Parts: sequence; structure tokens; C-alpha cells
Amino acid sequence: MDQPHSPAVLLAGAHYPAQDVRLRPYEYNTQLLSARAHFGNALCECRRPALKLQIRERAGKLHLAAWPGQGRAHAFHCPFYSERDHQTTSVEGFAPGSDGRLRLKYVAPLTATGKSQREEKLQPTPGRARMWALLHHLWMGSGLNRWYPGWRRDWGLTRHVLLREAAEIEIEDTTLDRILYVPRVFTEKSKNDIEKEWQSFVRPLTVDSRGQSLVRSAFVLGVVRTLTQAKTGYHVTLQQHAASIFLPDGICRQLAQRSRRGWSESLLKKERPEDKQARVVVMLRVQSYPNGALVAVDGVMMRTTKSLIPSNTDQEDALANALQAAGTQFSRPLAFDQRHGDLPTFVLRQADGSESFFTDMYCIPLSTPRHSINHLRLVYCERAYEAGHDIWIWDRHEGSTIPKIPSPNANADR
Ligand SMILES: [Zn+2]
Repeated sequence: MDQPHSPAVLLAGAHYPAQDVRLRPYEYNTQLLSARAHFGNALCECRRPALKLQIRERAGKLHLAAWPGQGRAHAFHCPFYSERDHQTTSVEGFAPGSDGRLRLKYVAPLTATGKSQREEKLQPTPGRARMWALLHHLWMGSGLNRWYPGWRRDWGLTRHVLLREAAEIEIEDTTLDRILYVPRVFTEKSKNDIEKEWQSFVRPLTVDSRGQSLVRSAFVLGVVRTLTQAKTGYHVTLQQHAASIFLPDGICRQLAQRSRRGWSESLLKKERPEDKQARVVVMLRVQSYPNGALVAVDGVMMRTTKSLIPSNTDQEDALANALQAAGTQFSRPLAFDQRHGDLPTFVLRQADGSESFFTDMYCIPLSTPRHSINHLRLVYCERAYEAGHDIWIWDRHEGSTIPKIPSPNANADR
């Protein structure tokens, strides 16, 4: 993401901004070629001593990636930092694939014959990833579950990092970015290009191969703009995007159960004042009717703050906003299914020279029964101490004001 002091990478003897090389590797092709030929790797200087970076090739083009297993060793604000190493590879459905990419076994085949596919029930299949795992993986791999002071997060940048991450995921015989549509930032000027791009995304889905009713599916990811009830389901529209997608009753039931917070937030949206609204990210697996209208066959809705940091409640939104306003760095741990479980609401990171200190931050909502609060506090404390973290708890029963937030710099508190 964008930040004021991006670390540098050392590429064939010269320094370049890490952020720039990560986002626009094609502009550094000559340097990457030279580094690969003469050194075999590049170096990231976000840490001392510097960390090795892989020079990887995809479709004849070179780019940099964290050394396997070292994603977490990079500085929190470094574009090569990733929490994925110790998380997703152990998640059902994900396995290391070729060229360091992750191979994803998705819950249902992307192409199938027979109209029955359209009404298919997505039964849990052992060893295959579900939509929550996929969306959480994308979010975490793109760094969208983290915040660093000075970052901006507009839709253009969000779209860019999501598609970049999707290109690292193999699914069946392709990579996810090729079958994932994320709306572009809409402008009057780009209207025709956007329409063309959308049509070329939808077209393969409408192809009926030799009359065999070959049903293809692909993915759409965006922020919910409207959710409108229809006769046999709902229509959802996305921000920056004109076409609506139909959600049949079965999918609506699934969303209401497995994406409860995102679903109810989308329904409530109209009744809440603008400044109180959360955002809802929706990811759908879609198929097409012969007329090109899209229908969802699987999906998840993830509630987030205005800065697109996953958040379950108004209380968590308030904490995330306060952390951003206080200039702190923090991350939202993600569980790879719909339940957040006992994971901290956020993990605050304080820097002290080259060292980092972590604080597990928990929100206890008013809906938590009073008799279970002491037990919860014990569980949270144990977890934090086991991980070598400090603990911070905001129990809503004790007040609606956020307790004092640790300062961004560890020295100030210790
Ligand atoms: Zn780094």
C-alpha cells in the first residue's frame, strides 16, 4: 500500500523504492533480468541485515516476491510483508503450487455440464476451500487486513492489490485473476472501456458449447451498493459498477446464515446515516443466463470498516477508526471461515527501534452475557501471554468510551 517511507530494494547494485518495484515490476524488467543473471536474488532493506527476495517469472515477465517462509520477517509496512506463510498453507483447499504460487482446490468445479449445476447445493467437500477461505486469503495476502499510518486506501489501489494477489493463486487450469472481475473506478471517460471489459468477462460464461449446456462460472468481487428484494431472491449492485447480479432464494439463505453480519449490514444500509454505515465486501461465484444476466451460485459477504478492514460490529469499527486516528499500526487476524472465534479483534504493533511489541486488542460487546465475561478475559489473557503479547480489552459493559489506546511508539508506554 502507499505510505510515506517505503523501504528500498537492492536490485543488481542499485536502490529502488520497494513499493514501486512490487506494484510495477514491468518497469524494472532490465534490472530484474540483470539481478537474476548476476546475483540470483534481490534484497529488501526494510530490515537489517537485509532480507533476500526471490526473482520469479510469470508468463515471461519477472517480479519480486518474499523468500519462502520469510513473509512475516519483513517490516510491517514493507510491501513484501505477509502473514500468509504461517496461515493459509495449512488451510484446507490450499497447497503450494508451481513457482511458489498457491494452488487452490475450490469447493465446486468451474465448468460442468447439465442445467442441474445451476441449482447445485454446495455441500462441504473435504480438502476443498470454501469462499470464506478464498476471500480471507485474498484480503490477508493483499495486506488489506492491516493498517499503517499514512496509508491511503482508495478503490483503485484496493482493486490493484487484490488482482495482484489473485494472480498468485492457481485454480484448476488458470489463475484466479483471469476469472475474477473486480470493478474499475468508474469515470464517464472510461465508461465504454469498462463496458467492453465487462462484456468480455461475461461472454465466456454465456457460451453454450455444442448445445450441451456447458455451464461455466467465474468470480465477481466488489463493495455492496444496493441489495433489493425481488420475487424469488434479491438483486445486488456493486459500487463503481452498473450491472446487477441476481441472488436466488437459496443463496440468500446461505448468505443470511454464513455471512450474517455482511448480509444484515447490507439490508440495514438504507436506514443508517451515512457516517454510521459500515461497508460490505461481496464475493460471488456467478453463472450466466443466456441473455447475459448473472446469477450467483455461491457467495460470501464480509463486513468491513470504511477503510475496508474486516470488522464485525459498530464497536469494532469505532476501535479501528480510533487506532487509525491515533497513528498506530495494527492488523485484523482472519480465521479463514465465517467465525472469528477467540482471535483478537485487532493486533496492535508498536515499534521500538528494530524491535516490535504486540498488543492483542479485544472488544467485548454488550451482547456478551455478564456471567461469561470473566472467563473470556482469562482466555484472552492466556492467549496473549502465550504469544508474548500484551493485552488490551474494551468491555462495552464498562462504558461506551474507548479505553486509552497504547501509543504508536513503544518507548512512550514502557
Ligand atoms: Zn521488506
